Amino acid sequence: MDAQKSNAELLEEITRLRAQVAVLEADAARHQQTEQTRRGDEQDYRIIADTAYDWEYWCNPDGTLRYVSPACERITGYTPAQFFADSGLLREIVLPEDHAVWDAHRQHDAGESGPLEVQFRIRRANGEVRWLEHVCQPVRDESGAFLGWRVSNRDITDRKQDELQRHKNRQVLETLMRNLPGMVYRCLNDHRWTMKFLSEGCTVLTGYDPPDLLDNRVIAYGDLIHPDDRKHVWQTVQEGVRAGDPYEVVYRLQTRYGKEKWVWEQGRQITLSDGSVLLEGLITDITIRIRVEEALRRSEARSRALLDAVPDLMFQVDREGIFLRYHDGGMGTCTPAMEFLGRSMFDVFPASLATRTKYAIDRALASRDIQILQYKLPAGDELRDYEARIVASGDDEVAMIVREITTRVRAERALRASEERLRTLINATPDIICFKDGDGRWLLANQAMLDLFGLTEASYRGKTDQELIAFSPTQHDILTISYSADQHAWAQGTLSRGDEVIPNPDGEERAFDIIKVPLFYPDGKRKALVVLGRDITERKTAEELLYRREEGFRTLVENNPNLVARVDRELRLQYVNPAMTRMTGVPYEDTVGKTSAELGFPDELVTLWNTAYERVFQTGKGVAFEFTYEVPRDGLRYFESHIMPEFPERGPVQTLLMISRDITEKKEAAEQRVTLAIERERVAILAHFLQNLSHEFRTPLSIVYTGLDALQRSAQLDERNVQRVARIQEQASYVGRLVDAMMTMAQLDGDPRYVFGSHDLSMILSDIQHEIETLAKPKNLAVTLELPDDLPFVHCDPSELRRAVFNICENAVDYTPEGGAITIRVSLDSSQVQIEVADTGIGIGDDDFPHIFERFYRADKARTGRHAGLGLAISKTIIDAHQGTIEVQSTLGEGSTFRVILPLTADQ
Ligand code: ADP
Repeated sequence: MDAQKSNAELLEEITRLRAQVAVLEADAARHQQTEQTRRGDEQDYRIIADTAYDWEYWCNPDGTLRYVSPACERITGYTPAQFFADSGLLREIVLPEDHAVWDAHRQHDAGESGPLEVQFRIRRANGEVRWLEHVCQPVRDESGAFLGWRVSNRDITDRKQDELQRHKNRQVLETLMRNLPGMVYRCLNDHRWTMKFLSEGCTVLTGYDPPDLLDNRVIAYGDLIHPDDRKHVWQTVQEGVRAGDPYEVVYRLQTRYGKEKWVWEQGRQITLSDGSVLLEGLITDITIRIRVEEALRRSEARSRALLDAVPDLMFQVDREGIFLRYHDGGMGTCTPAMEFLGRSMFDVFPASLATRTKYAIDRALASRDIQILQYKLPAGDELRDYEARIVASGDDEVAMIVREITTRVRAERALRASEERLRTLINATPDIICFKDGDGRWLLANQAMLDLFGLTEASYRGKTDQELIAFSPTQHDILTISYSADQHAWAQGTLSRGDEVIPNPDGEERAFDIIKVPLFYPDGKRKALVVLGRDITERKTAEELLYRREEGFRTLVENNPNLVARVDRELRLQYVNPAMTRMTGVPYEDTVGKTSAELGFPDELVTLWNTAYERVFQTGKGVAFEFTYEVPRDGLRYFESHIMPEFPERGPVQTLLMISRDITEKKEAAEQRVTLAIERERVAILAHFLQNLSHEFRTPLSIVYTGLDALQRSAQLDERNVQRVARIQEQASYVGRLVDAMMTMAQLDGDPRYVFGSHDLSMILSDIQHEIETLAKPKNLAVTLELPDDLPFVHCDPSELRRAVFNICENAVDYTPEGGAITIRVSLDSSQVQIEVADTGIGIGDDDFPHIFERFYRADKARTGRHAGLGLAISKTIIDAHQGTIEVQSTLGEGSTFRVILPLTADQ
């Protein structure tokens, strides 16, 4: 048959075989590839094992080590070499307590196929205890021969601790559950949860006693479940029942007293021995737990909200400085936080900042204390300040909270600068300054204060006055007083002020003006006391001096006869001196505070004064003027007034001082002087005129005399003519005498030229007697002169005195009839000398008596001769000029006595 196979059949056969070969070839190729792959895999496995996180080791069937991965060093602290060198090391590092576990595990049968897993504790080379999860896997070759064990050890310390923690938590929870109020129940699985049994806890939980609920007698348990939760409870319980599992459900109960409680129910379906099916379980009150959880949720939500609202930038950074997570607090554009993620801070920060930050991270992780870092970063064209708070948030992680503090830093810098300035200022001031806290402890004192108390910068802070006594024993008393003064200031509650005398360290007493200002917190507690003091010793001395000077001034002003008044800016009298009140007659109390107008001064005077006051206030310069005032008792008086501005320490004029002097006498004297001057001028003119006139008279008179002389000598004159000539001669002589007398008078009036000296009166009088005797001879009058022996020299102008006395004597000759007597008698007393001229003449009548010294007065107008009526007037003028007087005594028909009395000066 085969032989008869057709070509076609053969071809088909070849094709099939070829295909088989191809498949085989492909298989071979695949097998080769697989071999290669496997060889590569083996290498890879080793690499994987080498780099594996867990500690891998392989054992031969006899238990000796074949391979140990390098991770063993990280987990145990021992190197692979140490394990190879010491076969007992493996068991040695297992804690003795866990040796049993280890040993049991090593007993296992090599024939077991699946992995074996145990957990035990080891002690690392550094003594630290770690939990290991040890997984053994038997390794077999393709034929199934046992090659040994592959072992993987994983450090599960953290997980173990977690478990322990969880276990502890469960225990706590169980304890809690046990102590929670709750009730055990058994009920039908119907919608009303008809109760068949209820424990005592029912009353506390629901408010109903168990019998009320059994068989729904008073109320069904299902009615106590919150309507909104009923469906949920039903479904949960039915699910559990269907699955044959216990069910657990949390829902709300409404108690008998309208209270809502959260309950946790756990139960299951049971079948009783009688075949009935019931639900059995425990219901417990978890209201508190729910509330706590809710509160926790709320607080978490709040924390999150808070976190979201925090304007800070937060990073989670690992130990190496890699940014893991961030929360952008809206710092926004200046910090591209997103770009930081996954990158090292050494890449994104300037090198120095990165180094500082890394250092802070290390410290935060090591110390678990918060680290604060301040730095500057450029933002735009300015530098901004940032503060980073670094706090450990895990073993290898920190939270880094970054906040921009540019404004704060600037404010702080400004504050520091201003503080610095303030400190300089405070220390530079000579005033003493001290801040104390509410308990009287010194917080800050300036240099002046420290100097005064002999304290140093180091010694005073935080101490009370009492405590400082030890440091400043010399100021013991002051510190004691200061304490009670502080208490007074506190009690007063506001600024208090007073003078204190404090001796300086040299013992010199200084006066201080002390101000104390207590400061309080809004709740009224004492906050601080500011004590300020100024050395006013100099001022005090000056004040005292001023006071004394003012006292002196006052005495001066009070006793001053001038009028003194002080006027304020409202033009009211602030002060008047007694002279002023005396003048106005208005008492002091009624004067001060009044204006001049209110005091009733005349309008024109008020206007004059007010204008002057205003001017001085405006210009600050004093003025002077005169005024007249009708003084109530004294009549019109003249005043000279000075108004002066009074300046305070600084600022414009505040008050004026007016001093007025009564110048009435001066005024009158001046007026008299003027009158006198005018009179004198008039007399001088008259005298001048008379002199000229007499001169003019003399020439024609001398011609008349000469003519008359010639006539008398010529023999042709008859008797009548002789008499006529005699008459003319007599009249001419009268005119001549008149002219002489007038000249004398005019000279004495206008330009008297006395030449005073000390002269012998007896000589003058002897001369006069001699001349008078000649005159008296024709009338046969007896002339006698009686002089005392000790007649002193007299202060006089001798020729004028002679003229005065001669005139009197000449009158005595003229008015005494023939045969009479004229006596010139001088008498003395201690102060004066008296020259008496007595005659036995006709005397003077009463009508004439008052007028005999008037000019041109003559008792007998008809008589001329020698009598021009000027003799006695001239005598009086001369005696007046000698400070003397003339007295007259006369009896008509008997005679007259004239007495000239002259004063004697001390040296006479
Ligand atoms: P007369 O030039 O008139 O003497 P007097 O001034 O000397 O002027 O005297 C004035 C008058 O006083 C005389 O006119 C006379 O009446 C009277 N009188 C002066 N002296 C005497 C005297 N001794 N006896 C009487 N009468 C006298």
